[in-house]
Amino acid sequence: MKRISIMGATGSIGTQAIDVLKDNRDQFKLVSLSAGRNMDKLREILKTVEPEMVSVMDDGDRKALASEFPAITFVSGESGLDAIAADDSDMLLTAVMGSVGLAPTLKAIENGKDIALANKETLVAAGGLVMNAAKKNNVNIIPVDSEHSAIFQCLRGERHSEIKQLIITASGGSFRDLSRAELDNVTLADALNHPNWAMGRKITIDSATMMNKGLEVIEAKWLFDLETDQITTLLHKESTIHSMVEFVDNSIIAQLGNSDMKLPIQFAFSHPDRLPMDNPLDINALSQLNFKPMDFERFKMLELAYEALKIGGTMPAVMNAANEYAVDRFLKGEISFLDIEKIVELRMEEHEVIGEPDLETILHYDKLFKSNMR
Ligand code: NDP
Ligand code: MG
Repeated sequence: MKRISIMGATGSIGTQAIDVLKDNRDQFKLVSLSAGRNMDKLREILKTVEPEMVSVMDDGDRKALASEFPAITFVSGESGLDAIAADDSDMLLTAVMGSVGLAPTLKAIENGKDIALANKETLVAAGGLVMNAAKKNNVNIIPVDSEHSAIFQCLRGERHSEIKQLIITASGGSFRDLSRAELDNVTLADALNHPNWAMGRKITIDSATMMNKGLEVIEAKWLFDLETDQITTLLHKESTIHSMVEFVDNSIIAQLGNSDMKLPIQFAFSHPDRLPMDNPLDINALSQLNFKPMDFERFKMLELAYEALKIGGTMPAVMNAANEYAVDRFLKGEISFLDIEKIVELRMEEHEVIGEPDLETILHYDKLFKSNMR
């Protein structure tokens, strides 16, 4: 039995991960989980699974739940997430939204747990620190993001030195058919209406701005240890090919599947094994697959992410924090869609980069760039 914990269990990835665990009770044991503030969802989850420990953000919620579920140990706040990172599970699924996942992920790595990584902001903000810590502690980081899971699967048994490039596919998000001029008048409701994937609100907006692909380029750089110019992106509106790898002999290996995150979640849990799943891809129903080169002028946020990656140091963390801040304001209806990009670009321009930052420096800039404009 593999012992698994989930950080961010009440979210889109978290709830699908709980379903995967319930479908495979003979393979996996859920040890602990964390929620944020969605107590209705948490109560629903706790009616169907029996973790040993649960972490919530608010101490009032902790007290209420402790009397309702006496068999479970409840913890709260930042120290609650630390307790999850220190439990005795074999693997932690990091499925919180945003850079709040960074510190507990590092703690889990120091405790020798393998990581099933959905929380891409952690690698964007501190990829060097996280990957070094994983190496030092002999910890595997298995990607959950569908593109990175695809690449990880394509690379099983391949040699790193024989990779020519990674080709990360992008659906294009909610506004893929609009011109730049047409983005002026888009609404929050339009932006939240993703054509292919049902996901949390922040990543759905990141998909519409194409920052999600930018975050994924940085995530791929750290996961697969390649040069920036070996990571390309390609518009593929069907999202059937989740990503591809081209090798030195020009052979391209791709991974295909439905737009269903349960597959990469289950694969991260079961790796190196594969387990059966329902919902197969109906290959006969695929009439055509479309591809289009990425236009950096149309998708400016992707260009900014490549720039942040090339500059390095604190820049990717600052870009990520400015983006989290701007998306939060857009979700609250305070700014327009194109303001997100303006804020990120301006914050990047203003920032004086620090090379090879430690955790404290990254957390300092993360906090600063999420708060100082409110
Ligand atoms: P959701 O917004 O659906 O869920 C986020 C989870 O994090 C919830 O459990 C939420 O708790 C919790 N959370 C949020 N803020 C905090 C905080 N400050 N402290 C503790 N917990 C917190 O996000 P998704 O599931 O969509 O995404 C999670 C991560 O996975 C992101 O990094 C995203 O980029 C990545 N990802 C998601 C994909 C998807 O299909 N959804 C695909 C690929 C990657 P609560 O709701 O209880 O407040
Ligand atoms: Mg993805």
